[in-house]
Amino acid sequence: MPDDLSRNQNAHSAKTRTAGLGEQVPETMQAWVLGDPGELTLRDKPVPTPGRAEVLVRVDAVAICATDLEILQYGTPAMIEGGKPFNKNFTPGHEYMGTVAALGPGVDQFAVGDRVTVEVHAGCGQCKRCRMGMYTSCHNYGQNYGDHDKGHRANGFTTDGGFAQYVVNNVNTMIPVPDAMSDEEATLVVTAGTSMYGMTELGGLVAGESVVVIGPGPIGLLAVAVAKSLGASPVILIGTRDSRNEIGRKLGADYIINPKNEDAVARVKELTGKGADYVVDCAGNETTVNQSVHMTNRGGRICLAAFPKSAVNFDLGALAVNNIYLYGIRGEGRSATHRAMAFMAERRFDAGLVHSHTFPMDELPTALKYAAERIDDALKVVVSMHKTTSGGDK
Ligand SMILES: [Zn+2]
Ligand SMILES: [Zn+2]
Repeated sequence: MPDDLSRNQNAHSAKTRTAGLGEQVPETMQAWVLGDPGELTLRDKPVPTPGRAEVLVRVDAVAICATDLEILQYGTPAMIEGGKPFNKNFTPGHEYMGTVAALGPGVDQFAVGDRVTVEVHAGCGQCKRCRMGMYTSCHNYGQNYGDHDKGHRANGFTTDGGFAQYVVNNVNTMIPVPDAMSDEEATLVVTAGTSMYGMTELGGLVAGESVVVIGPGPIGLLAVAVAKSLGASPVILIGTRDSRNEIGRKLGADYIINPKNEDAVARVKELTGKGADYVVDCAGNETTVNQSVHMTNRGGRICLAAFPKSAVNFDLGALAVNNIYLYGIRGEGRSATHRAMAFMAERRFDAGLVHSHTFPMDELPTALKYAAERIDDALKVVVSMHKTTSGGDK
């Protein structure tokens, strides 16, 4: 079938579907498309059509994640048509929020006009891990192209994402946004959900346990906030950038350690007695992994919440002899994102503190540059569809 014809059909069905729903959805939209590594261009694409258990979301804001920067340069962990996502008409972006624009067949959980934010993964629902609720570890990741469709979706990774005006989402990935919450703050729910997943599903944190977070990036800072809200005590943040450490203090860190000024392991032992019950390493380099092992108390746990690019040499013997549990993290599974939103909606902490800049949609390349080079202390950079003027202000 010629490309033009299939596009027209797609657009026509979109129009028919939304008739009577009170929202006029256009036939085409603007979307950023990944070409060669690092090359994004703004193009027209057909507005996608939601299928069963799916909803069409009009994107209002999308945050930039370190993983987006990785995908743009290296391709992975995105996977399109069984391989790297370059020159496949792929639109990245996974930390977005917006407004429900149209409903697929059978959807009654949401209504047109609802404000929603999203988590990334919709698992296949049929593999061993999905059946356990571990849909971010779905065995059919990326197995959805052409006639080979196992039902898995990870928007911005294996299917089109939020650097566009419209995206189709599975209802399981959608979370209602309270009226009082800003678009920018609502985009942070994936980040907070990842921290929640690390604290509760992986580490099984209970109130009164001591927590150390290493690395005050967005996930680390919100891990501090989530740990504090869950009743961890004390909550200790380790970071080398004082400006970020200060945000961690506002988010609930009881103690801040700057390893440039003091021995982090010795200080944690001093503060906790025999070492921390749970250490969340959001840096993942040789220094921090070894610090994690040596500052965890016997029988304690470590969550590795960073993805080291190469092998890391660490004191495995100390881990073994001290009965320390080590957890890898993959995404924000088991509806942790929904529970993170509960904390954010209750204002247990101000997730907005990690948001530093907002740019209009057509300035996405500038926004990416700010995030990649940490220009002007950029922390979490957001692109807003409703912002028209430049400046990158908050
Ligand atoms: Zn992300
Ligand atoms: Zn699965």
